[in-house]
Amino acid sequence: MATKRIKRERTPAFSSHLLLLFHSSLPPSLPRSSSFPSFSRINSSSSGRPVHPPEPETMASEKHFKYLVLGGGVAAGYAAREFAKHGLQPGELAIISKESVAPYERPALSKGYLAPQNAARLPGFHTCVGSGGEKLLPEWYADKGIELILSTEIVKADLATKTLTSADGATFICEILLIATGSSTIKLTDFGVQGAESNNILYLRDIEDADKLVAAMQAKKDGKAVVVGGGYIGLELGAALKTNNFDVTMVYPEPWCMPRLFTAGIAHFYEGYYASKGINIVKGTVASGFDADANGDVSKVNLKDGRVLDADIVIVGVGGRPLTGLFKGQVEEEKGGLKTDTFFETSVAGVYAIGDVATFPMKLYNEPRRVEHVDHARKSAEQAVKAIKAKETGETAAEYDYLPYFYSRSFEVAWQFYGDNVGETVLFGDNDPATEKAKFGTYWVKDGKVIGVFLEGGSAEENQAIAKVARAQPPAADLEALSKEGLDFASKI
Ligand SMILES: Cc1cc2nc3c(=O)[nH]c(=O)nc-3n(C[C@H](O)[C@H](O)[C@H](O)COP(=O)(O)OP(=O)(O)OC[C@H]3O[C@@H](n4cnc5c(N)ncnc54)[C@H](O)[C@@H]3O)c2cc1C
Repeated sequence: MATKRIKRERTPAFSSHLLLLFHSSLPPSLPRSSSFPSFSRINSSSSGRPVHPPEPETMASEKHFKYLVLGGGVAAGYAAREFAKHGLQPGELAIISKESVAPYERPALSKGYLAPQNAARLPGFHTCVGSGGEKLLPEWYADKGIELILSTEIVKADLATKTLTSADGATFICEILLIATGSSTIKLTDFGVQGAESNNILYLRDIEDADKLVAAMQAKKDGKAVVVGGGYIGLELGAALKTNNFDVTMVYPEPWCMPRLFTAGIAHFYEGYYASKGINIVKGTVASGFDADANGDVSKVNLKDGRVLDADIVIVGVGGRPLTGLFKGQVEEEKGGLKTDTFFETSVAGVYAIGDVATFPMKLYNEPRRVEHVDHARKSAEQAVKAIKAKETGETAAEYDYLPYFYSRSFEVAWQFYGDNVGETVLFGDNDPATEKAKFGTYWVKDGKVIGVFLEGGSAEENQAIAKVARAQPPAADLEALSKEGLDFASKI
């Protein structure tokens, strides 16, 4: 496991501007990351007696980089690869992360990481394997001269001077900052839900959370698990717990699961399929409190409708929030994210926002959007780095023309979605949960054009075909005919 690489060093009290100027004048062949040596001077007072200024004993280190990525998740890993593709001088780039490991493919945490056998473990799923690329091991960063500053939380960010301060007082200054802080999970304790602080009420955002879940599954072997939330985290974790032989109940307030994307027809399949796997689904109510045993371990989930569920583990997946708090008041925001242009540059020159935190102009739909999905985290990172490098040579990168793409898989089912889920919906195929190897989907039709497609059980070619439809937006006037034609409609585009 990589360790924190920041050492406390004594530094002179230069202003950050001076440091910037000093380092900007370094020849490009020299490493631009450095800590400044301590110094002590002997001045003379007017009385002629030597005056020893106090040693700056308590000052923490100050480091300078040309490029700094704040956050060590998916976007950070893909940004590093893109920087390396363009050619980097050693010491030009650093990644600062709260996490103790190099960037990895976060979606693995709710899938392969929780498998009962041959579970995925690092270094197996470091970025950029998720897109079929090279696995960037910690050694890769070292070889490229990219500094991984791990287990380091940034608690203050001054965007005007591009100066970051860590929890232990170290300072990092850069010329170009990429904000890639991702999202945090919404916790039930944030709302004061009674008993929500009990042991084994768990969340899943990073590898530390995943390890806690694995440990809880081992400690409460073959026990009862309650999943609070029916979104993609809830559905994937419900399946993972069941596969690990837990007795699983899912609870969510909506009339069906994943209502932000699924139609009633799509949800009909997954709810029936989950029931056939032995998962109990309780809809239309929420967890209003928890009881714990004498050890403080959760033992019961109290539902708002009066029902009580036994529980050895509770996993909560009720959504996330983009981590933008450090930058409040310093940069323009929109739709809950940091507003960027098509190059992912924010309203502060030289400060970029990528991944979950960015609200960018979605060219295809001609409106600003924020996207919390891995495909966009990868592509936005690549786009920002391309734009940064193009600017350096006086060129302009192509506009970001993103086609939304989401996917999930659990048990033996897997779906993909491309495009936008607005307008009228047309179900096609067989969505009967009892059907073996079900293949069905839904088209979203707006203003007479197909703009979004969902497909369960598609082959690689079929998934490519639905992506093409969502991009091309072909006309479809007769919705009944479209339903009958089903996947053939997509295959013809
Ligand atoms: C369990 C799970 C499963 C998922 N599955 C899917 C899926 O199947 N399909 C899909 O499309 N998407 C999925 N996602 C969403 C996808 O992983 C995210 O959209 C993606 O990770 C966003 O990338 P990011 O780089 O913006 O943020 P992240 O990958 O979240 O990285 C943010 C990084 O910033 C660090 N950080 C934050 N604040 C600070 C700070 N102050 N100081 C230092 N470091 C900081 C964090 O520790 C983290 O390392 C899943 C997410 C989770 C949590």
